[in-house]
Amino acid sequence: MGGFPGSFEGVDLAALAAREGTPLYVYSAPAIRSRIRALRGALAGLDAGIRYAVKANGNLAVLRLLAAEGAGADIVSGGELMRALHAGIAPEAIVFSGVGKTDAEIDTALAVGIGRFNIESRAELDALQRLAAARGTVAVAAVRINPDVDARTHAKISTGKAENKFGVPMDEARAWFEAAADRPNVRLDGLHMHIGSQLLSLDPVREALRRMAAFWRALEAAGHAITSIDVGGGLGVRYRDGEVAPDANEYADAIREALAGFTGRLLVEPGRWLVAEAGLLLTRVVLEKQGRERRFLMLDAGMNDLLRPSLYDAWHDIVRVGDTAGRDRVAYDVVGPVCETGDTFARQREMPRCAAGDLVAILGAGAYGASMASTYNARPLAAEVLVEEGRYAVIRQRQTFDAMIAGERPADDWRTA
Ligand SMILES: *Cc1c(COP(=O)(O)O)cnc(C)c1O
Repeated sequence: MGGFPGSFEGVDLAALAAREGTPLYVYSAPAIRSRIRALRGALAGLDAGIRYAVKANGNLAVLRLLAAEGAGADIVSGGELMRALHAGIAPEAIVFSGVGKTDAEIDTALAVGIGRFNIESRAELDALQRLAAARGTVAVAAVRINPDVDARTHAKISTGKAENKFGVPMDEARAWFEAAADRPNVRLDGLHMHIGSQLLSLDPVREALRRMAAFWRALEAAGHAITSIDVGGGLGVRYRDGEVAPDANEYADAIREALAGFTGRLLVEPGRWLVAEAGLLLTRVVLEKQGRERRFLMLDAGMNDLLRPSLYDAWHDIVRVGDTAGRDRVAYDVVGPVCETGDTFARQREMPRCAAGDLVAILGAGAYGASMASTYNARPLAAEVLVEEGRYAVIRQRQTFDAMIAGERPADDWRTA
């Protein structure tokens, strides 16, 4: 990719950067809305609910936008529970996934009355029984099946193989259903799966759905009522030219086909697919540096702002903002200022020649961008804005130094535990 238009949803990016500074996350509200509407449309006719995976982008304004379009939330921590509730998402529309829920997190979720727990281990199931009994309530739960399929994605975001820590094998799940009477405070009536993220082919999804459907039929035949099947998230997005993300209609058709005859409630938990392509990370070139072997383009964004390239060797298209006509093309190693060699966004990337002060956009940054950011190297968390029809709203102010160090104390109050 070469030059990028100077504006995004009618907002001039140079003016925006001048006003709000860089690095700056910019999300398109219409793009997020059009994705969730497309998914809702594709699922029409099914009794299906969308449970947005908060970890993809948990900004409260993004959550509110999705909630206004009918999404509930898939959460994986007590903090995400608070985010979802703060954004006005009804507790009943929240499902709690995650492989290491603490007693405190489970108890809080019970207290607010979330819709469903996705259970990933025997120990967690027992904890849920104990905590629900203590509250005199009955928790609604699904078992997360590990269908043992290869999602054909990056190993670090593959979650549905037998060797992964997620979910339980079907024979174990079956034993839980058979022993349901031992756990009177857990209504175990659902199945759940989530085989991985950034899935570009639906074939692994179809295979996992096929296995899940067979299991559901076997459970029904054995007299165990299943009222909810949650097919997880994982739909991939287009990060680079030539990639083709799965289509919402094909995805919905795969679900319809595999689960034909299921009359209960279906849940889907997309994260990335709803928000990734709607966002970019706007950053300014600090300097160009000619090393002995490589030419470096140094940005004011670093791995602390956008970790995916460092963590997963993920590709993001990187474009110079504005007119690039007449500029020669250069192969850059595009890097950040953090003191790590891994702070590299791209290697030997062909781009129009850039100069200090130029604006560069890292595309596809709406998911697992801001939500994975840290303050490593004492760099403040970037600001985030939502853009729409020529206007923008700051949905997270740039972190101040005071906010960064809030909570830190001199070691002058020594106690004994
Ligand atoms: C992360 C996660 C999702 C969302 O994954 P995406 O690839 O962003 O769609 C859904 N369900 C569970 C249980 C997850 O952990």
